[in-house]
Amino acid sequence: MIPIARPLIGPEEKAAVLAVLDSGQLTQGAVVAAFEEEFAALCGVRYAIATSSGTAALYLALLAHGIGPGDEVITTPFSFIATANSILATGARPVFVDIQPDTFTLDPRQVAAALTPRTQAILPVHLFGQPADLAELVALARRHRLALIEDCCQAHGALYRGQPVGSFGTGCFSFYPTKNMTTGEGGMVTTNDPHIAERVRLLRAHGMRQRYHHEIVGFNFRLTDLQAAIGRVQLRRLAEFTQRRQANAAYLTAHLPAPLMPPAVRPDRTHVFHQYTIRVPTRRDALAAALARRGVGTGVYYPVPIHQQPPYRERGYGQSLPVAEQASQCVLSLPVHPALTPDDRERIVAVLREGVAEVLQPVELSAVHDA
Ligand SMILES: *Cc1c(COP(=O)(O)O)cnc(C)c1O
Repeated sequence: MIPIARPLIGPEEKAAVLAVLDSGQLTQGAVVAAFEEEFAALCGVRYAIATSSGTAALYLALLAHGIGPGDEVITTPFSFIATANSILATGARPVFVDIQPDTFTLDPRQVAAALTPRTQAILPVHLFGQPADLAELVALARRHRLALIEDCCQAHGALYRGQPVGSFGTGCFSFYPTKNMTTGEGGMVTTNDPHIAERVRLLRAHGMRQRYHHEIVGFNFRLTDLQAAIGRVQLRRLAEFTQRRQANAAYLTAHLPAPLMPPAVRPDRTHVFHQYTIRVPTRRDALAAALARRGVGTGVYYPVPIHQQPPYRERGYGQSLPVAEQASQCVLSLPVHPALTPDDRERIVAVLREGVAEVLQPVELSAVHDA
């Protein structure tokens, strides 16, 4: 089976972990500090604060911006649920607006239409590795004095008009094993604002600047030095991982059989292909099953938009967001990760052709006969 994702962990990562184990300093220490400094350089920001997960990064970023009960945060319904759950966890209300049909990222016009006096922040997701429409979203945030919190959990190193994601607002990254780089579990908040950085640092470790003196109520959302050691090696390899993802994506796009639609890539930004997500006009699940039978793993991100998930329905969400709902019916992600071999890529394309012939072409023919 060619899996949809596979982390690349080599001898350098293993050696780095062993060195930390031997050092006796296991949790947040000098290795986390070095990882933060190096990650800040990737994003071109002054501060990076490591956290225990991407979810923790989002939650602490929102809290650091003072988001809480009574506030509204405008976000996308087409994401991993952590994006919206982090907003709910602060006591604020996620306000879902629709996405664009080709890039699946937040539609800035819908954001503008959803602003109210309670709006405190905009939270776009750079979904599948492609930056959202940052120029429009930054302008909206400035004009209305809102926080801009970027969910960069799928977009490590992606650029928008040459500038790294995570540097436009407050960036939140994840290092879960399927992401573009991993620490097992882990996250990072990036910012140029010293107050936000300080707030996140305090919230991350029980409000302590000085040991056992607690300035605010915080939590334990620390990253360990063991994880940071893996992260530092992965960060050095990220550019190569990204090049391989992009080369795999270019190959798939060049060979994708009709009527499958390749990912839309805007010319003014880089796509780092966390996922290579095609649109299948009909019978998506049957095609996925046909590919699985032939040894090619795929993923549906996401089969149910967040506003239709049970905890959100219970909270009274259930409005119609047709573009997100349609996307959840037709998206299919193919393997694009850097562990793919040239043979794997050829196999994926051959199997796609067979799958299309088996599942989609009979449908097209009967549609022609009916007409
Ligand atoms: C992975 C992910 C998260 C959450 O990150 P974790 O490290 O798993 O907590 C949040 N948002 C998006 C878009 C993600 O892909």
